[in-house]
Amino acid sequence: MIEELEVYNYLRSVDCCRVCCLRFLNGRADDFINIEDALEKRNISSSSDGQGSPPKKVRENTCVACLGLFESELLENLLTEICSSASFKEYDCQAFSSSISLPLVLHLRQLSLWIDLLERFPNRYDNSSSPPDVTVKDAFKMILNRKLEEKLKRPFSTNGVMVNVFFKYADEERELLLLEKVKPEVFVDRKAKKHCRKEFLTRNAFEKHFTPSNLSLKLYREHISVPPAVNDDKLELEMVNFTGPTIFLAGRYNKISRELSQTPWVIDGKRKMENSVQEIMASVVAPYFRVPDDSLIFSSSGREDVDVRCLGEGRPFVLEIPNTYKDYLQESVAAEMEMAIERSKKISVRDLQLVSREELVHIKHGEMDKRKFYRALCVIEKPVTVAVLQALNVEEPFEIEQWTPLRVLHRRPLLSRPRTVYSVKASACRSNERVLIVDIVTQAGTYIKELVHSDFGRTKPSLRSIIGQPIDIHALDVMAIDLDWPKKLRR
Ligand SMILES: [Zn+2]
Repeated sequence: MIEELEVYNYLRSVDCCRVCCLRFLNGRADDFINIEDALEKRNISSSSDGQGSPPKKVRENTCVACLGLFESELLENLLTEICSSASFKEYDCQAFSSSISLPLVLHLRQLSLWIDLLERFPNRYDNSSSPPDVTVKDAFKMILNRKLEEKLKRPFSTNGVMVNVFFKYADEERELLLLEKVKPEVFVDRKAKKHCRKEFLTRNAFEKHFTPSNLSLKLYREHISVPPAVNDDKLELEMVNFTGPTIFLAGRYNKISRELSQTPWVIDGKRKMENSVQEIMASVVAPYFRVPDDSLIFSSSGREDVDVRCLGEGRPFVLEIPNTYKDYLQESVAAEMEMAIERSKKISVRDLQLVSREELVHIKHGEMDKRKFYRALCVIEKPVTVAVLQALNVEEPFEIEQWTPLRVLHRRPLLSRPRTVYSVKASACRSNERVLIVDIVTQAGTYIKELVHSDFGRTKPSLRSIIGQPIDIHALDVMAIDLDWPKKLRR
């Protein structure tokens, strides 16, 4: 305890603020919420200031470690700036997060104090590779986030609207340039490349090249003040801006149209079709989250061709919505969106809900393990016979070899792929004796049209080879997708 007081008194004597003293005394996260209590717990009260040393100054110098970052006036100004910002008010988010950008000069001043404390208090501070203090940034974030929680009456969460705070320091360049004299070799390359001033020294380069154990302390002391020098300049608030969170809206869609692509269909810069599943959804969803339609990123569990319907429970999909202005979705609003999409008469959507990023694994992984359920309307040249129906009633899985279909060769590489067909079941159609309705269950990624007509023998075996006569496919529907996600709602 005595030693803590000694360290405290020393740091105060070289013009460290009380928050920075606590940082070098390894305050815990909670300590920074109430500095006075935390110091008291260490038997350091405000009356400790000045014990056995000159009486307390009326006006304190700017702290040599944080350059005034922890002064209450600066924090109050920042809070006012955030809370009164018109652009912040545009965000309707249930939580917030923060990111703080601080000048690199704070690293330099931390290093000077580190060197100083190592030499003065060798029993307390060892020559380890990481700095001895709770960093300025971490301590400031703890204080700021707590204050923002109180002011905004919203919790801190990494999924909330991000408050980006940028500080600058007028004397930054002059102070950092001194490092060139301590370790010129770090800067040689950079000069040759004529890097812009901003990249004079990156944070990573600083942390790598400037620690007490990997530089000449003698040279350092010759050029840079240990402990850091008092400077009247303070950090200044440069800018505050905001970034909306990224949210994920999941659901299942049915495609009822046989003239609709899943995503915008553009070849050589020309649109082949005026609308798409993705665009119909985006036109309804984007306005609610106050983002442009084309900022949404669509993904789904597989896709169907333009002329294929997707029926049954529907195909699971997710819309990634970056930089959103709203991070919640009420049940009633979700239901209204579903109705609005339904009015397109081309697709319908159900189970619309916000999901977490972690849940995307359902859509992005294991795609090839999934089964797909199709119904094909097929036509043969002669009336359907019992022999044909029997041949097309396969309950045991079988392997096929499928070369890239001719119709997609212009955009896919020429490959032969093995695929599993799990079952085939054909039934006759009452109204037309040449028509067959065939239910097919396959491994994801199987080309169904080619499985039926063989694509000039490029798919083997095919329904054509199984029945030994030409067979054509007139219409195809996806009946089910083997993915029980997202959770089912509102039915
Ligand atoms: Zn300070």
